[in-house]
Amino acid sequence: MNVIVIVPAAGLGTRMAPAGGRPQNSKQYSELGGVPILLHTLRKFAAAPGVTEIYLALRQAESKAFLDLLEADKLAKPVRVVEGGENRQQSVANALAAVKAEDDDIVLVHDAVRPFVGQETIVHVIEAAAKHGAAIAGVPAVDTIKQVERTAEGAVIRATIPRAQVVMAQTPQGFRYDVLKKAFDEAMRDGFVGTDESSLVERSGHEVQVVMGSPRNMKITTPADMELAEFYARQETKT
Ligand code: C5P
Repeated sequence: MNVIVIVPAAGLGTRMAPAGGRPQNSKQYSELGGVPILLHTLRKFAAAPGVTEIYLALRQAESKAFLDLLEADKLAKPVRVVEGGENRQQSVANALAAVKAEDDDIVLVHDAVRPFVGQETIVHVIEAAAKHGAAIAGVPAVDTIKQVERTAEGAVIRATIPRAQVVMAQTPQGFRYDVLKKAFDEAMRDGFVGTDESSLVERSGHEVQVVMGSPRNMKITTPADMELAEFYARQETKT
């Protein structure tokens, strides 16, 4: 069984912009300890036992300097680069179209901006995806979750979702190749665009397991996240 990793990394990182300003840089290229976040992320998967190869979706225009850095890093697994798409789903679809896999191979999709994913999380998602066909990392919600309706003044609450019924979806999200391919084909046919791969597989009718992720597996999204990310990165270099 091969395990193929797809890392969509073609986002513009507009939420990393200073208040009222234009994005400075795509967030995956921000550096932690002198190393771009994206390279930290790729190193984690290159080091994961069982992972065979990595597909990386990038914006061609901004990727030249990064590709030189990647080449120099000599990762233990091959990294194949594909052109990113208009949204995350299209970036993953472009990578999936380039992947050569058997039906029962596993495809993991992981956000470029989650560099602190643990090796145990990667292993657990691979194992659960191999057993059940579909599995994601998730963490329990600590905040109470409200369903809202957007209004001109912000939002009003329409329902409170019992916390025990909610998990916060992380990545990696892992699937048997045939399950993911079918879900992407159906989403494309129906014009459905989701914010993660699991939502495509759910609507395709395949049950998705949740394995325990970690709060450390944070998605670096706003400038405020960088302070915590720098703290975690310093801890990792100490161990
Ligand atoms: O925008 P969002 O926070 O959902 O981005 C999640 C991941 O999807 C990031 O790794 C980002 O680089 C990637 N992405 C992409 N292509 C896009 C938009 C986002 O690969 N067009």
